[in-house]
Amino acid sequence: MKELSVENLHVTIGGQQIVRGLTLRVPRGEVHALMGPNGSGKSTLAKVLAGHPDYEVTKGKVLMDGENLLELDPDERARCGLFMAFQYPSEVPGVTIANFLRAAIQSRLPEGEELEATDYYAKLYEKMELLRMDRSFTSRAVNEGFSGGEKKRTEILQLAMLEPKYAILDETDSGLDIDALKTVAHGVNSLRGPDLGVLLITHYQRLLNYIVPDYVHVMVAGRIVRSGRKELALELEERGYDWAREERAEPALR
Ligand code: ADP
Ligand code: MG
Repeated sequence: MKELSVENLHVTIGGQQIVRGLTLRVPRGEVHALMGPNGSGKSTLAKVLAGHPDYEVTKGKVLMDGENLLELDPDERARCGLFMAFQYPSEVPGVTIANFLRAAIQSRLPEGEELEATDYYAKLYEKMELLRMDRSFTSRAVNEGFSGGEKKRTEILQLAMLEPKYAILDETDSGLDIDALKTVAHGVNSLRGPDLGVLLITHYQRLLNYIVPDYVHVMVAGRIVRSGRKELALELEERGYDWAREERAEPALR
């Protein structure tokens, strides 16, 4: 099955259970939004999928196209086609975006295979055109003195160049300004298609005005309490997360 599948996942950190039985499936070709109040464990889930060593999976499974993701180290996960948006948030002084991306792509090639400069630049410029980015941008050092919008642009360009099977974008940043938001939205909308599955993590419904998800999931206290189509995001905006939580509890009370 071509999907990223999380089954009954339980995660602890520092002896505290944060993810408590989370089940979620993102088929390739679909964009799924994961929403939820602060502290519900969204970023914890993203970090576990990326392979962050501090988080302990105590129960459950994560499969990517049927392969056990939890057995792979973070680098192998990336090679297998998983992309995490927060993977390179730090500044890399003196290294241009063009060289950084080239090294990233080169490192994913099989041993002995060389990335041709002409092929690389052709692809780079093609992707930049698709994303409506200025070519001069790639001669800047990675994230050095970048605005929120420019950091997002770097991230989206990485996503475009690496052509992953699944992308997890954790938009934790409460300070996502309109420029950054539009960059992310235009990027995801340009890149979405049958070969890419996206898990878009966001606290804010606002982003979903620009990226219309195929499905929306609501996470509260470490598990999914509700899933639905895009209208669910609007309903949440109107009625809040308490409503989502209560609705779920109701059948059990009857
Ligand atoms: P969200 O992204 O939904 O806001 P997080 O996954 O960031 O939620 O956090 C969920 C809970 O896990 C919070 O209560 C947070 O304090 C706790 N948590 C996250 N990371 C750590 C950590 N490294 N050490 C201790 N507690 C953590
Ligand atoms: Mg978060």
